[in-house]
Amino acid sequence: MHRERTIIGNWKAFLTIPQAEALTRHLVAGMPAFPDGMQVVLAPSFEALTEIKEEITTTPLKLGAQDLFWEDQGSFTGEVSGRALAALGIEYVLVGHSERRQFGYETDGIVNKKLVAALRNNLTPVFLFGETRIERDEGKTEEVITRQVAGGLSGMESDELLSKIIYAYEPVWAVGGKAANDVAATEAIARLTRELLFEKAKKEFAYTFIYGGSVDTTNAASIARSSLIHGAVVGRASVDPAAFISIVQAFLSSA
Ligand code: PEP
Repeated sequence: MHRERTIIGNWKAFLTIPQAEALTRHLVAGMPAFPDGMQVVLAPSFEALTEIKEEITTTPLKLGAQDLFWEDQGSFTGEVSGRALAALGIEYVLVGHSERRQFGYETDGIVNKKLVAALRNNLTPVFLFGETRIERDEGKTEEVITRQVAGGLSGMESDELLSKIIYAYEPVWAVGGKAANDVAATEAIARLTRELLFEKAKKEFAYTFIYGGSVDTTNAASIARSSLIHGAVVGRASVDPAAFISIVQAFLSSA
């Protein structure tokens, strides 16, 4: 049971504003038509959000930010609030990316505060979680996912709230153009996530579970074929317009 297919391009800090604009023009020109139930989201870095918003206004593409602060306003130098993002017309925001967690910027408690802030501002949070290589090798994958999901969702019990979040499993060791996780292993985490969510809400509900970690043109089709995986977060391959379009196409073909 899930809502819709969602493919997110996480452009990280790869591009300058002119490069981001050029990429968007290529994407707009080459993107196949996709049905209402499918979301294709571009997540540029903060400074390019306004320009990219302009570029996609008349298209079905959506816009996401890569992070947000947990307070809505105040003396927080350098931070960008959910309130400011919502005012800019942003619809999605990444929360808890491993590249932020790894330097200690984001603990499960901080991720929780950011998820709450995103929902408070009517943004759709893309909640990222996943184990490191060491944790995996030590057989702790399930334990880590359970802890991260429980910590991130602390205090959120209703299916109404939980269904507004997109759940993105990104094994840390697969992120950044290393080897992608295999589909069967991701499906095991999809089942675990589903269990954790339904246990929390004490009922079944429609939710979206997506995978991230070295998704590219060679593996997108097999990921897209899984009924348990409802989309993808794409990093490196999302700044190559032909590759990103072909990944969207793979999900479109399997919809
Ligand atoms: C990411 O960082 O969100 C990601 C999925 O990166 P990559 O596709 O490069 O592994």
